[in-house]
Amino acid sequence: MSARLIIVGPPGAGKGTQAGRIAAAYGVPAISTGDIFRKNVADGTPLGKQAKAIMDAGDYVPDSLTNELVKSRLAEPDAAEGFLLDGYPRTLGQVDFLDALLADQGAAIDAVIQLVADQDELVRRLLKRAQEQGRTDDNEQTIRRRQEVYIEQTAPLVSAYDARGIVLAVDGLGDPDTVGDRIAAALAGRGLTAGV
Ligand code: AMP
Repeated sequence: MSARLIIVGPPGAGKGTQAGRIAAAYGVPAISTGDIFRKNVADGTPLGKQAKAIMDAGDYVPDSLTNELVKSRLAEPDAAEGFLLDGYPRTLGQVDFLDALLADQGAAIDAVIQLVADQDELVRRLLKRAQEQGRTDDNEQTIRRRQEVYIEQTAPLVSAYDARGIVLAVDGLGDPDTVGDRIAAALAGRGLTAGV
């Protein structure tokens, strides 16, 4: 079956792990714009050259570039029946672009999976991880700041999709299997069943 999905989640909630699992279960590609940009930077492509300084500064790559990148990725055959987007859309302009792109194909986003987690618990986890990995740049202040930025930036997007009734808020705390089962149950509740 087709499943056109988006996943959002705060830093440290295991979004990448869950994205991989959902994509495998539904037989759709997991498409991370951050990964695509990083690969272009590593490969030194013209797009990578344009994106590098922007990414290094922690800014958003302009919508014009990002939208074209997503348009061409979604035109690849593996995304014809569905996809899971991670890290896109990030602006309301990107939401509009994606809507128009899908509408041209008579399609639409089926669900937005929103991983939610207690902030203090996430901070504890990330601090532990930073300690284990010797990442001294990750202190409580920077971690909390990243979480604030995440909330500020995703709130308008989640509201836009919430107005359509397609946001599935899923508790993101727990081992990956448990969280994965919650996501599968939430999607099944919307008639989106894996492996069918
Ligand atoms: P991420 O790994 O998703 O945090 O993305 C890493 C970087 O890639 C971001 O900080 C942005 O510079 C850029 N990027 C990824 N996705 C987008 C997007 N949808 N819109 C604009 N910039 C993006």
